[in-house]
Amino acid sequence: MGKCTIFRGMIIVARKGVTAQELDSIRERVERLGLRTHLSIGESRTIIGCIGEESRLRSVPLLSIPGVDSVHPVMRPWKLAGRDFAADPTTRIQVGPHLFGGSACLVAAGPCSVEGEEMMMETGRAVAGDGAALLRGGAFKPRTSPYSFDGLKEEGLRILARVREETGLPVVTEVLDPRDAELIAGYVDMLQIGTRNMQNFALLREVGQLQRPVLLKRGMSATLKDLLLAAEYVMSKGNMQVVLCERGIRTFGTEMRNTFDLAAIPWLKQETHLPVVADPSHAGGRRDLVAPLSFAAVAAGADGLIVEVHPDPGNALSDGDQSLAFAGFTALMRDLGAFAEAAGRKL
Ligand code: PEP
Ligand code: MN
Repeated sequence: MGKCTIFRGMIIVARKGVTAQELDSIRERVERLGLRTHLSIGESRTIIGCIGEESRLRSVPLLSIPGVDSVHPVMRPWKLAGRDFAADPTTRIQVGPHLFGGSACLVAAGPCSVEGEEMMMETGRAVAGDGAALLRGGAFKPRTSPYSFDGLKEEGLRILARVREETGLPVVTEVLDPRDAELIAGYVDMLQIGTRNMQNFALLREVGQLQRPVLLKRGMSATLKDLLLAAEYVMSKGNMQVVLCERGIRTFGTEMRNTFDLAAIPWLKQETHLPVVADPSHAGGRRDLVAPLSFAAVAAGADGLIVEVHPDPGNALSDGDQSLAFAGFTALMRDLGAFAEAAGRKL
C-alpha cells in the first residue's frame, strides 16, 4: 500500500512583473526557515510553492517582502476543528444524558439571567415538560452598562445546581472571567463563552484546560474564520468538546438587534466537525422572531437551539423583549417538533 503524504505548506503568488532577483530572495527567505520551495512560472502569474511546516511561515510578514502579491495556506489553520481531523462529519459531544451532534436537535431553554430560585425552578419544570434538553441561565452576566444587573454570581450557580437536581436538566451558564472558570465548572454541565468574549484568548485557554463541554458563541463582529480559530484555542489546550453557536452579528441593519447569519450554519457544518447550534433569541432580539428563526435554523441543519424563556418576560431583569413566556415556548416546541420530523430530524 502506498504511503499517504499530506501536503503542508503555503502558496505564494508573486506580483506581476516580479524580477528574478526578487524571486530568489523570496525563496531564500522561505528556505532559511527549513521549507522547500517550488517555482512555477505561468503565462500570467508566477507561483512559489512552499512545502513544509507552514506555521514557521506564519510569523514572517510575507506580504511585505518585495515581489509578493498574496499568500495562501494549503491546509486550513483550524487543524483540530477542521473536518479532516475527525472520523465523523459531526463529533458527538455529551452533555448530561444528551449528545450534541447526534440525530436530535437539542434545545437549551431558560431565562437570560438567573434572578432567583423560585423563577428558575418554575422555568426548569416548564421547559423540561416541553422537551427542552438543557436549562440555560446566566449567573455572571456581561452587561453593556456597568450599572445594569450583572447576575447573582455563585448564588446563581447554586440555584442552577438545585434546579438540575430537581428537574434532571443539565445546565449551561456563561463564564466571563478566567478566574471564575474552575468554580463555575464545579457547578454546571456546560460552559458558555459569550459573544463579547469569543476572542478573550486567556478565557479560551482556561476553558481549554477544563474537561467541560464549551458552548462558544460567535463574536458579534467575528467572521466564521475567527470563530473556528477561537474554537481552535480551546481545543489546542486539550478540550475537544466545543459546540459552536451562531447568535447574530452586527451589520448596517438597525431593525433587528443583530442580523442572523443563517448561511453560517451550513457553512460551518461543511468546514468543521464540531456541532453547530443557533440562538434565535439574541439574533432577532424580539419575541415574535424567535419561532421563524428557529425553524430556519433547524432547516439549515442546526444541531440545537438556545432559546430565552422567562416566567414573566415583562418583568425580566435582562432580555425580556426577546424572551418567550411559557405558553410561547410550549407552542414553539410543539410546532418545531412537527417541523423537525418533516425535515427528517427530531427534537
Ligand atoms: C446570553 O446568552 O444571555 C448572552 C449574553 O448571549 P450573547 O453572548 O450571545 O450576547
Ligand atoms: Mn440574554
